[in-house]
Amino acid sequence: MNNSSTFQELGLSAPILRALETCGYTTPTPIQQQAIPLILQGRDIIGAAQTGTGKTAAFALPTLQRLGQHTGLTRCLVLVPTRELAIQVEENFKRYGEHSRLSITLLYGGVGYGTQKRELERGADIIIATPGRLLDLWGQRNVRLDNVQVLILDEVDRMLDLGFIEDVSRIIHLCPRERQTLLFSATVEKSILNIAKWALRDPEIVDTRSGVKSADTVAHYIYPVESYQKYDLLLALLEHTHFKSVIVFTRTKHDADRITEWVESTRHTVTTLHADRTQAERGEALAGFKNGKYAVMVATDIAARGLDIRGITHVINYNVPSHPEDYIHRIGRTGRASEEGEAFTLFSPDEMLSLQAIERLLERTIERRKLEGFKYRFEPHMSTTLAPASAPRRRNR
Ligand code: AMP
Repeated sequence: MNNSSTFQELGLSAPILRALETCGYTTPTPIQQQAIPLILQGRDIIGAAQTGTGKTAAFALPTLQRLGQHTGLTRCLVLVPTRELAIQVEENFKRYGEHSRLSITLLYGGVGYGTQKRELERGADIIIATPGRLLDLWGQRNVRLDNVQVLILDEVDRMLDLGFIEDVSRIIHLCPRERQTLLFSATVEKSILNIAKWALRDPEIVDTRSGVKSADTVAHYIYPVESYQKYDLLLALLEHTHFKSVIVFTRTKHDADRITEWVESTRHTVTTLHADRTQAERGEALAGFKNGKYAVMVATDIAARGLDIRGITHVINYNVPSHPEDYIHRIGRTGRASEEGEAFTLFSPDEMLSLQAIERLLERTIERRKLEGFKYRFEPHMSTTLAPASAPRRRNR
């Protein structure tokens, strides 16, 4: 495929092109260039793409076009791992489908059934759902899947991580065999290919990931520090950095709450996003972070994947992520759509194995930095030795 294709050349129709104009998109991203023509032809695909690559539009645009007119029968099902991603995918479908009359229904858990049931009764052309709630509503006979023509499985690696494999398999079996299936995953490993083997038909693999698997526009650095000084260093970094908005990632919900309290005592506005907060609280946190009410968001990994928040200038990892892929997802929160971003990781000596695993995945070392003016109790270790072959390479699934 020629790199300079326009959306029109990819075969998209006038109503979709008009919506794209409103969005201000001028050039298709690599995953869009490759996936859109195949999806328009009705092919099954495995899309290897992280969030931030334009993958949502890659599947939403051709699917909207293929669905055409409103019928009220559910002809497209999009399965996603989290409520946040469900909301985001819906926003995308709505924007791109602005000039179509297709109805879209969002189904996720943690909220009442009333609105969702009423919407289903009115007839949903497209359902965007998390697995648990969808199966609940199917069990109560509120959802029919026997008209599904396009099944989209988004962030399948994440669904497997969260233990949804049985639910996802069951849902795939509830859809007609004669259908188009689009599978998207940030990593394409054996467990993903195993699903593809029985769920997809002669799929084309679309892989636009480059050798260096993190966004080129993100500058990322390691800040070595003893663990008991991480808190001081975090606050010092917040103090010394010109950020517009920053996500601080923590390993546990407890850490997230604790760090939020610390940051509250500074001049920064701060909110928290983790799984123990109610749906309303999570919604308020995200909305507030997106609209600038909060400059800092402290989050566990739940926020790391899938969320599309524009204009994040900085990501700070309070801990080195223990799964190397999570590092890529986390720093991928910044530097989106060619904007500049920076990511800092606080690294204490006990996290050496995790850091080595990340550097092996990236196939390079990450620059070590020292914060000038910060009173280190011990001189930080700045060496950048790459790992011995025996250190863990990937997460166990
Ligand atoms: P995604 O990978 O689907 O999460 O998309 C990442 C971001 O890129 C979203 O904010 C999209 O609105 C935006 N985006 C998607 N496609 C394009 C494009 N062709 N040009 C500019 N921005 C885009």
